[in-house]
Amino acid sequence: MEKLRYERPVIKKLETNMPNKFGFRTEYNPLTHLHGVAVKDLLKDHGSPLFVISETRIRETYRTAYKAFSTRYPKVQFAWSYKTNYLNAICRTFHQEGSWAEVVSGFEYDKAIHNGVDGSKIIFNGPDKTEQDLQKAIKNDSLIHIDHLDELYMIIELADKMKKTPKVAIRVNMDTGIYPMWDRFGFNYENGQAWDALNKIMRSGKLDLVGLHCHIGTFMLTAHAYSTAAYKLADLALGVKKKYQHDIKYIDMGGGFASKNTLKGSYLPGSDVNPTFDDFAEAITSALINSDFEPDNLPLLILETGRALIDEAGYLLGTVISNKRSATGKRTTIIDIGVNILFTSFWYNHKVTPAQPFSHYTEDTTLYGPLCMNIDVIRESVSLPLMNKGDNFVIHHVGAYNMTQWMQFITLRPKVVMIDDKGNVHVIREKETLERVEQMEKVPQHLKEFDL
Ligand SMILES: *Cc1c(COP(=O)(O)O)cnc(C)c1O
Repeated sequence: MEKLRYERPVIKKLETNMPNKFGFRTEYNPLTHLHGVAVKDLLKDHGSPLFVISETRIRETYRTAYKAFSTRYPKVQFAWSYKTNYLNAICRTFHQEGSWAEVVSGFEYDKAIHNGVDGSKIIFNGPDKTEQDLQKAIKNDSLIHIDHLDELYMIIELADKMKKTPKVAIRVNMDTGIYPMWDRFGFNYENGQAWDALNKIMRSGKLDLVGLHCHIGTFMLTAHAYSTAAYKLADLALGVKKKYQHDIKYIDMGGGFASKNTLKGSYLPGSDVNPTFDDFAEAITSALINSDFEPDNLPLLILETGRALIDEAGYLLGTVISNKRSATGKRTTIIDIGVNILFTSFWYNHKVTPAQPFSHYTEDTTLYGPLCMNIDVIRESVSLPLMNKGDNFVIHHVGAYNMTQWMQFITLRPKVVMIDDKGNVHVIREKETLERVEQMEKVPQHLKEFDL
């Protein structure tokens, strides 16, 4: 007779819909389908773990955000922040919606060109633009956002050499009441660096100063900081007009809007308390409209919002590997998703929902990833019903940064699929393979053979 499986019992208090400090539990239902497609089918067809992107959600979020700005201000342009998620299918969804491209390296610049974005609709940010990158950007009439003086001097030299007038803006950093201040990128407003750069550009006579840019932080939980930033950029633009009779064509307010995720240590869920697109739009547009710009000659307003547009469109599906008890008796569940593919678990408490029916008893659980590394923790403490080995679950709001910052580490990176508006599932990135990883390696001749 087969020996029955036995596990030493632990006595634990179970909770059934008891209110805690956040009120009653609100999650009663498993998440069996994503945008009409069964979670079990997705995992059966594509393997576990699996990133799933909803095209519909991307478009809805984009339109909500765009509407928040365009109903308040006459000239609005979004530029998709490539580093937030540069899978081509995702970039092209944003480009179809009308977004330009915002890139921060030569690699991302080339990716935008390969995606078919016209050079004049690429915003080139970042502190590391090589001479070659800049030549390309100047040739293509891209919008170069200057980060430091060395870059400024290089662009002036290239303008001479190439006999072209590069289109430039400067990135401005400033005190917006948020600390620590992001002052490592661009030129400071308060101490006069920004004016030094503007004077050098205008006096050179070789560059076309088309815009002013800032990107004041990321996952900003207050809209007010953007109002301060918009006033300061407007002040610079109006100063340039007064001093040089030169019109600044656009004000680029960067990104950094919080998504609906919940930061670790936050008391309430992000979906309830984080500012909305309307809050950010109101802060920025009213500052610009109330500044001294002539009402009929307002600059174009550019937004480079990244995470707030894509986080909610991304899901990560996974499978339970095992349950065990910690030394203290706490339930721990090992899942097949590690921090190497879910970087954002370092700073968010990602919501996790079982994908099959569950009992209403819940228990405080630690979710560990599959890596043989102590830091591989997806949730330190989350109230969950029991999930058995082989059960599935959905991790929410993973669309931003995970698919660019993920690492091939211990395990191979999983597939990414996109569910389109009609419910069709498309593979938009294949699963990594050993062959693919080893393609880039070389073994010196004398190390080819060994005898054990
Ligand atoms: C990263 C980045 C963005 C996007 O930031 P989010 O926080 O994802 O909105 C926009 N602009 C610049 C310059 C960036 O570096």
